[in-house]
Amino acid sequence: MKVDYIIVGCGLAGISICEQLRRNGRSFVVFDNDSQHASTVAAGMYNPVILKRFTEVWDAQLQLDIAMPFYAELEQLLQSTLIYPYPIYRRFSSVKEQNTWFEACDKPALENFLATQLINNSFECIDAPFSFGEVKQAGRVDTNALIEGYKAYLKSNNSLITTGFDFENLQHSKGGVIVNDIQANKIVFAEGYGVKSNPFFGDLPLKEAKGELMLIHAPDLKIDVIVKSSVFIIPEGNDHYSVGATYNWSDKSVQTTDAAKEELQTKLEKFLKCDYTVVEQYAGIRPTVVDRRPLLGRHNSHSNLYVLNGLGTRGVMLGPLMGQHLYNFMEKHIDLPEAINIRRFS
Ligand SMILES: Cc1cc2nc3c(=O)[nH]c(=O)nc-3n(C[C@H](O)[C@H](O)[C@H](O)COP(=O)(O)OP(=O)(O)OC[C@H]3O[C@@H](n4cnc5c(N)ncnc54)[C@H](O)[C@@H]3O)c2cc1C
Repeated sequence: MKVDYIIVGCGLAGISICEQLRRNGRSFVVFDNDSQHASTVAAGMYNPVILKRFTEVWDAQLQLDIAMPFYAELEQLLQSTLIYPYPIYRRFSSVKEQNTWFEACDKPALENFLATQLINNSFECIDAPFSFGEVKQAGRVDTNALIEGYKAYLKSNNSLITTGFDFENLQHSKGGVIVNDIQANKIVFAEGYGVKSNPFFGDLPLKEAKGELMLIHAPDLKIDVIVKSSVFIIPEGNDHYSVGATYNWSDKSVQTTDAAKEELQTKLEKFLKCDYTVVEQYAGIRPTVVDRRPLLGRHNSHSNLYVLNGLGTRGVMLGPLMGQHLYNFMEKHIDLPEAINIRRFS
């Protein structure tokens, strides 16, 4: 088989580059062995504001402007609803926080994202004596539906290989690579935290940030916004909500833990005032980078090998723009911005 590209990884990073290739008429096959789950377990939230400090996410408007049409086109391709716009209600814990919010509203970079009017609490099941601040242009992408749908789409085109990518079978040929019986011009590695076992890009400065979240059933809660306090509550439909997430910088296992469940429940019960049951618990490893910028680029000595990684805690918003940058670099020879180029670590 001859293709233009081999992609390793079918998470948010892999799909972001696959879609650039598909939309530009390039052929490709994808390897994915279901070994990492960050994209499938993600809460899928897109949120242009850092809600701890009330500052703008890096390049937030540009990321949203690329990401929203990107997922809308995928909804058409996969015939599935993926985008669920919801405002985020940031619960204030003091008057001081309200004041910091008002100061943030005056910053030009945030004026499209923060509503200046406080929202008084009308939810019976949420305790919020200091009201909420509303973040606009936010919501949730159903990443689980996206990954499942995309894999089914690839499978129906005979473009998905569900075994692990075996580096021993990789041969470098003139003008390309050969893997088993597949000849390709280029390979893009998008393995998330799995890149640690990659002999070509495994030494990139990726830091694991394990995250866990719970799916709860809370029939009395009845909210149709995302509430952010010390944890998020995100509507999932049918009285189900995601609650998360934890951050653990030392545990590299992909199993869920009782400690994370207890942490989430303790934080949740500080402001949730109705009964609920925990239906499921999920865990995944976020591929984060020391300087909080993605990792894109070409291998130093093997010019047909590329990487797209480091989407960190914000793969939903970041992925589509990064896919576009990498495509432009590989196909149009447009330099990658220095802030995201792996060269910055060489
Ligand atoms: C609990 C939690 C909540 C999160 N919530 C959000 C959120 O609300 N919003 C947001 O934007 N982001 C969120 N994130 C972060 C987001 O999940 C990541 O930024 C994103 O999923 C990273 O995507 P990725 O494709 O790089 O990695 P992954 O999703 O890990 O995908 C890598 C893929 O590569 C495959 N793979 C790896 N090695 C190989 C190999 N050798 N051969 C074949 N296949 C291989 C894996 O099976 C996997 O499918 C969350 C993460 C976690 C853990």
